[in-house]
Amino acid sequence: MPLLPRRFEKIKSVLKHRISNLTILTEEIEKPHNLSAILRTCDAVGVLEAHAVFRDNKIPTFNSTAQGSQKWVKLSKHENIERAIKSLKQKGFKLYGTNLKEDAKDYRAFDYTGATAFVMGAEKWGLSESASHLVDESIFIPMRGMVQSLNVSVASAVLLFEALRQREESSDYPRSSGKISGLLYHKTLFEWCYPEVADWCKRNSRAYPELDQHGEIIENLPRSIKFRC
Ligand code: SAM
Repeated sequence: MPLLPRRFEKIKSVLKHRISNLTILTEEIEKPHNLSAILRTCDAVGVLEAHAVFRDNKIPTFNSTAQGSQKWVKLSKHENIERAIKSLKQKGFKLYGTNLKEDAKDYRAFDYTGATAFVMGAEKWGLSESASHLVDESIFIPMRGMVQSLNVSVASAVLLFEALRQREESSDYPRSSGKISGLLYHKTLFEWCYPEVADWCKRNSRAYPELDQHGEIIENLPRSIKFRC
């Protein structure tokens, strides 16, 4: 099935707003609807890639709450929280651990216009001791009700939209936006337009073919590789 022009335009306009320097790292989230809701929020905010560590490496399935957002937000899985944090720090992210402990600070006190990763804890236990020690800052969202905490996907949404708000209001905008460009843009554009061809290229260690201005693949590929978007 060829890529329809309207679909190509939609993909390009969404990709134009994808952000590479704002992300979420989840630690041992177990409930499919929570992971699904977090990825849906990531898609809405424009997060290019989310990160996760799963208990016993068991990945919860996505459910209808995700509304297909798992196709548009890459989820990178890490072996453990220490490695995940180290890898994000090496990429220049400042890590904000979310927890309800006394030494945590009000999330509104920080500037999230630089490379920012919010670290979210498990539904039952919250953030592990190890993660709490390794993050750069501990933050909390003030609660005024009878219940002590928010649902983890709701807390993720509050933080991600705050980061987006700050970036859009920054005098440094659009430089502060963290939008993607160059090679990463073209790579992601191809993967979104032709996920199956992209998988085939990866399996065969081939570079992705070029696209023309209408989003059609310029190169002649084997007949067995049908173009699907
Ligand atoms: N009993 C757990 C605890 O003491 O941390 C509650 C975990 S809460 C249901 C799950 C996760 O949601 C937390 O680890 C945190 O990432 C996030 N969260 C929930 N409410 C929050 C709040 N008010 N401020 C910051 N993060 C919150």
